[in-house]
Amino acid sequence: MKRNRQTLESALRDLERQHLKRSRRTVDAFIDADSATGVIVDGHKLVNFCSNDYLGLSRHPKIVAAMSDAARRYGSGSGASHLVTGHGVEHEALERELAAFTGRERALLFSTGYMANLAAITTFADRNDQVLLDRLSHASLIDGGLLAKANLRRFAHADAKAAAHEIENGDSSHGVIVGTDGVFSMDGDLAPLPELAAIAKAHEAWLLVDDAHGLGVIGPTGRGTVEHFGLNADDVPILIGTLGKAFGSFGAFVAGDHDVIELLLQRARSYIYTTALPQPVAAATRAALEIIEREAWRRERVLSLTQRFRAAAKDAGLPLGDSITPIQPILIGDSEAALITSRKLFDAGFWVAAIRPPTVPRGSARLRVTLSAAHTEAQVDALIEALHQAVSVRAAAL
Ligand code: PMP
Repeated sequence: MKRNRQTLESALRDLERQHLKRSRRTVDAFIDADSATGVIVDGHKLVNFCSNDYLGLSRHPKIVAAMSDAARRYGSGSGASHLVTGHGVEHEALERELAAFTGRERALLFSTGYMANLAAITTFADRNDQVLLDRLSHASLIDGGLLAKANLRRFAHADAKAAAHEIENGDSSHGVIVGTDGVFSMDGDLAPLPELAAIAKAHEAWLLVDDAHGLGVIGPTGRGTVEHFGLNADDVPILIGTLGKAFGSFGAFVAGDHDVIELLLQRARSYIYTTALPQPVAAATRAALEIIEREAWRRERVLSLTQRFRAAAKDAGLPLGDSITPIQPILIGDSEAALITSRKLFDAGFWVAAIRPPTVPRGSARLRVTLSAAHTEAQVDALIEALHQAVSVRAAAL
């Protein structure tokens, strides 16, 4: 179809009609000195229950100080890509520290998790290789498979047997990558990593885990879903982590053995052809990593608030998902109903976004509630009350 102004207008009208049009709200200010949970948005005072700042680190004074000290020393921009002149001491130190944290030989920094996932799939899957992804994997893993022009297939969610079936039915003359989120971003549930690791080993496939929502939060010492399941680098040879969530900073990394990282550095176009992350961002992440390793109470707190939320939500009869992590979706189904419920919560002082297709499958729109160590028990209890009101008022109106 020829592209003209009418096609654009009708595409936008279609989104509106299906209640799938997205819009942004602007955070005008934060209410408290060191915390990001209290916000002012369009003149409303709100408690943010929808960010990925799980450990409450994004406005931590020590992290902010590390960032501004580094800005004074190194400036605001890195000026070039890592392979030209943009790689600095803060990047180098952070990569070493992330490798140690994840128990791997090396780590490579990326500007975003999206770019890290594109890099990991396109570097290790050649054209026609099989890339098998969990059906609910993050969009960037799927886009990596498309960009690699691989034989991309998706298996049933969290179903290791379905993954094995796909491998067995595929063309065994090509390489196989099995990829999954560690913690699923919109559902909060965990991938069956022990089973996937066993299947990958049995078929000489690579297991790639994007642990964007697990690192810092899950596992006895916060080392993510790999640690939670008692696995190691041999089970999960390619690990991706993001730094804009529990780390309260920005950026991402891939961790693996020497050759995995060296090949990424040589080949990954989303590494090579982009400006290096500013050093102050890397310095902030280093300060965050130190706090994550020292302050286990943050992890314990967010997980205990999560349990409190789940127990109260069950008592209130709210349609919860099956998740032990701080991501606690309230399943609504219809996109318009999810928008209306989110709006009611907004009016009651809570910011919980409605997540709609194509981010989640059709008919499974939801409110994505996330907990943070910076929330108080009273805020969690008040959210439950507001959710109870908003969800039951909607049910009564239908
Ligand atoms: N992977 C997962 C599972 C994610 O949820 C996200 C971000 N929403 C990303 C990757 C992308 O990370 P980034 O925001 O750093 O691009």
